Amino acid sequence: MVSIRQKLVSVTQATKVTNGKNNARKYIVVHETDNTNTGADADAHARLQINGNSRDASWHWQVDENEAVQSFEHFWACWAAGTFTGNNQGIHVEICVNRDGDFNKALQNTASLVAKIMKEENIPISKVVQHNYFSGKNCPRNIRAGKVSWATFLQMVSNANSVQPEKPIPDSKKYRIQTGTYNDRKVAESVVEVLKTRFGWIAYVEQNGNNFRVKTGTFVGITAAQNAENKIKTARLAQVTYILEA
Ligand SMILES: [Zn+2]
Repeated sequence: MVSIRQKLVSVTQATKVTNGKNNARKYIVVHETDNTNTGADADAHARLQINGNSRDASWHWQVDENEAVQSFEHFWACWAAGTFTGNNQGIHVEICVNRDGDFNKALQNTASLVAKIMKEENIPISKVVQHNYFSGKNCPRNIRAGKVSWATFLQMVSNANSVQPEKPIPDSKKYRIQTGTYNDRKVAESVVEVLKTRFGWIAYVEQNGNNFRVKTGTFVGITAAQNAENKIKTARLAQVTYILEA
């Protein structure tokens, strides 16, 4: 995962260099800064935006080999695409290309960030595009030159997505509860009656030689089964109980 930090531009400044707060957030747009100067990393570009960019330009994120820095909340319609649609529908991410940086690591961090934004904003991979998609500009330059291909970058995004922690798989095994034996069928039947009417379960009597025991219908997951077993014990319906895999 890429480390993330906010260094937000003030609302006063944001109002001057954006189309306002109605960004439709349909695309994630990938750029490169084209600034190869030593020290032109993510923090430097974030400072540039905070201090009032000399150009009429703005973008949401800048990423280098160490971190991703956010300058604008996604609802701001930043001026980065060169077209009305791109500016009003895009979340813009700039990859730093400073010569003292590690471009491949910056690319990997950008892929992680893009994957994160896709999830948060519900944007599909088909809407992750290059700046070039909107205005025809040669941006992101190194990717377009094939230093790392666009297809490879999109694969990195997909991989970054798939390594997110997954939800635990629910226990779908089925279990039933069986009681110890009763020597009177009527006692067993009265227990079944309680399980059916009070607990709303399925239950039946099973004969075992001259004795009788009660079995329940199935419960999904060991936790549900243990809860059911506890209910039987708490109600003092059986002295002994077992959990069986169904
Ligand atoms: Zn660009």
